[in-house]
Amino acid sequence: MTVFSSKDFDDHETVLFFRDQDTGLKAIIAIHDTTLGPALGGTRMWNYASEDEAVTDVLRLSRGMTYKSALAGLNLGGGKSVIIGNSRTDKSDALFEAFGRAVDRLNGSYIAAEDVGTTVPDLEAARRSTRHIAGISEGGAGDPSPATAWGVYNGLLAAARYRLKVEDVSGLTIAVQGLGNVGYGLCKHLHEAGAKLIVTDIYDKSIEKAVQELGATPVTPDQILHQEVDILAPCALGAILNDISIPTLQTSVIAGAANNQLAEERHGHDLLARNILYAPDYAINAGGIILISHQGPHFDRAIAMKEVSNIHRTLTRIFERADAEKRPTQEVADQIANERITAAKKPIIRKKTG
Ligand code: NAD
Repeated sequence: MTVFSSKDFDDHETVLFFRDQDTGLKAIIAIHDTTLGPALGGTRMWNYASEDEAVTDVLRLSRGMTYKSALAGLNLGGGKSVIIGNSRTDKSDALFEAFGRAVDRLNGSYIAAEDVGTTVPDLEAARRSTRHIAGISEGGAGDPSPATAWGVYNGLLAAARYRLKVEDVSGLTIAVQGLGNVGYGLCKHLHEAGAKLIVTDIYDKSIEKAVQELGATPVTPDQILHQEVDILAPCALGAILNDISIPTLQTSVIAGAANNQLAEERHGHDLLARNILYAPDYAINAGGIILISHQGPHFDRAIAMKEVSNIHRTLTRIFERADAEKRPTQEVADQIANERITAAKKPIIRKKTG
């Protein structure tokens, strides 16, 4: 296994491996960058095929968090953790308490929250061993998914206004891939705003609910990316924008919650070449972390959600700059995030007195 020579190692500040024999815990915590503040990021529990795969995941995800928080204007750095194990069969309160002890050793330079495979109750168990946990009922924020859905809705609106020159989404046809916590929440906002929905999921029950409650048109998972629509909202998997899918897309806007939508960076150029406006994933899906950043004794959900809706402004800024510079939106988002981190790193030069 390699860390320093891994292609995903990006001068991460800290990569720590934890093992607790009693509970079977095997966890890795990666802190990518704390220039802007403590590293906040979710804890993913996944049955990785190999330890190399777990290291790759934690390196990539923690770097992504640095960019996400920087772009969202938060005073937070980037970090992430992974627990190697099956989230259906290997979980116990004791395991998460042991994980909490691992987080506690970092003295607040890493703050853990939920991610794929972990839930609010899991993090509440970890909270018994450390106070450096976010996205739990204590402190007000709770489940971040509704805030993520609200942020995606606002980002999608920004993309619609920018590219389709409409005031709102009423009458637009929008395809949503994945009806989970975020996808279904997004569908509700879109339905209330008068959009026509085409939806899919791998679970029939979720589709039936969307058909009954929201009047959505169902399609099979393999049909969703090729629908002729105004907007495509990927809210399930990563890497869905790739060499195979991009030539077949029939949309002029892509705006959805899924992480790592571009299979490779170069696919951002392919979307630009096809004149498809892409809302960079980590810019549009930052609602959850914005909400969590407000957690604390003075938590006010209304103020937090107002800040989430600023994703509209962030995306408009990215679209304008990308157009002016004729560059892919993802590249421009990276650059804006980098500029903020670099500015914060600059030493303060004190004026000489006397
Ligand atoms: P979720 O697990 O609740 O929902 C995902 C849904 O996608 C599920 O209903 C699943 O059945 C469906 N799905 C899986 N494979 C599919 C396929 N091939 N075709 C169609 N549907 C499929 O997850 P979520 O919390 O709603 O997150 C959705 C996406 O948004 C993920 O990529 C996640 O990383 C990202 N995201 C979520 C948050 C958050 O606050 N929850 C924040 C940022 C990013």
